[in-house]
Amino acid sequence: MMPSTPPLTQTVALRCRSCGAPLPTDTTGDIVRCTHCGTSQRIVDAQAFVDQIALQINSFLRSAVPLGAGAITGGGTVDPIARHNLFVQGIRPALDSEYREMKFRCFDLLSHGQMALPFIAMGTSGAAGDPRQAFVFQAKVRSVSTLAVDTESQEYLSDIDAIATTYGHLLTNAGLLSKSGPERYPFLARNCGEAADTLKGRSRLRALYERLTGLALIAQAIDGVIQGDVRKGRDSLREATPHLLKAREIALQNFDQSVLIGGIDEDLSMARAALSIVDILSASPTGNPTGGLRTLEVLLRTVTSPAPGGALTPGSTNMGRTENILAQTAAMRRAQVGQGNVRVVRAPGRISLPYWIVEVPYSFQTGALWKARGVEVTDMILVAATFPLAMNAPGGADPSTVVTDVFAAREQTTWRARVAGRETAISGGGIVQQVVAGSVPLPLPGIPAVPPLSTQEEAGQLVQSYLEWSRRRDTEIDQKLRLSLPRVVDIVYIPSVPGTPGAPAVPGLGSLSPRNVGDPAALNALAFT
Ligand SMILES: [Zn+2]
Repeated sequence: MMPSTPPLTQTVALRCRSCGAPLPTDTTGDIVRCTHCGTSQRIVDAQAFVDQIALQINSFLRSAVPLGAGAITGGGTVDPIARHNLFVQGIRPALDSEYREMKFRCFDLLSHGQMALPFIAMGTSGAAGDPRQAFVFQAKVRSVSTLAVDTESQEYLSDIDAIATTYGHLLTNAGLLSKSGPERYPFLARNCGEAADTLKGRSRLRALYERLTGLALIAQAIDGVIQGDVRKGRDSLREATPHLLKAREIALQNFDQSVLIGGIDEDLSMARAALSIVDILSASPTGNPTGGLRTLEVLLRTVTSPAPGGALTPGSTNMGRTENILAQTAAMRRAQVGQGNVRVVRAPGRISLPYWIVEVPYSFQTGALWKARGVEVTDMILVAATFPLAMNAPGGADPSTVVTDVFAAREQTTWRARVAGRETAISGGGIVQQVVAGSVPLPLPGIPAVPPLSTQEEAGQLVQSYLEWSRRRDTEIDQKLRLSLPRVVDIVYIPSVPGTPGAPAVPGLGSLSPRNVGDPAALNALAFT
């Protein structure tokens, strides 16, 4: 037999005063640590918070149920039909508007990615809410469960409970995502997992269930990886992806859930990025996966740091860029342990640096009057793939310093040849083509290697701005150059001795070598050994 009217405070379990989630019940002593947000607190303070919640529930019940709280806590004292009427006429309308608003905000939050790269604080847009409000709402919903007597009402309450719980956990996660420490991943995993538990079996919320399940697995994977358990990382990520794809498929089929797709795509990108991280760490020449963690941290900080010009802004929108760079880094690491090949120039050096190979087909006009003709040329430019280090440094750099400046190296022809239209090119990248022709697909030599810090697309844009810069520098080029569509064809690793005064970054290119491939200390910190 239940006691006839238990005080409401006892029906609400102890809750975290920081995030509002239930606290562990198996505590001894005066202090309890929240397993959802990590906040330690005195039990008396948590109890005071529960008392506040109880007051809110009581006032909610007084306004929604004419007979007051006794109708609910009295158990079987009110017959089922009366309870059903109370639910339909009082409770449901009282919950409905808050539920609708919470669901809207929850979906809005879920239109963004919900996981963070290791070491990186991620700002999640749309996460302005207080998780405690969501959990107070959840407690209200649970306080009226005895009034839901038919299946429809019970399902309605279960859906609200699931959304309130999910939203509460997601808001707590948003706070965790905005920090950078490794200790957040077990919390992220638990919160996503518990949200998934409340969503499980709710057919209208299946997309959310699949997504939260996938997110919990990604958080577990990253947690494993940064502790050196690369196998667990790989297994969890392989398991996560089908859940996220299922969530995407359902969201695509349901118009009211299509808002989720952008966020799911970012989560999928995060899963692929995390898989590259697994590859980067497991392809370790020393056999110790945590050996590359420090360099990985520098890489991630570099890749996600904002550029002064704002071109490479951090945050959720450039997840694809980070994913791309991590994939290239993984390919480089595999080549370092002989599990794959990259294009390599065989030359002495202390550190391998990456360069984009860019074909620059262009046409130019030569000759005067009846000798005038168009000439088509394909030249080649190397772009230091570490160019963001140079371009983002204080004061920046002009694009000609991070490429083989082939338009400065054009052959000086006589005015007679120019008038007669005998020029064959207005650029001089012949030696670049020779160096690239001498490169071969190979494992990387056993020296440290720096991964590319830019994408193929960015290399193409850099060459475009170099061409514009060349036009401004040289009026003759400006007048003659007609059309150019740079094509980024590959990446090549060239040994270098950065920081040696007077030594070109690419020794074989002499004066045509890029003059600025990034600060030597920064390159050293980014070099995977
Ligand atoms: Zn908490």
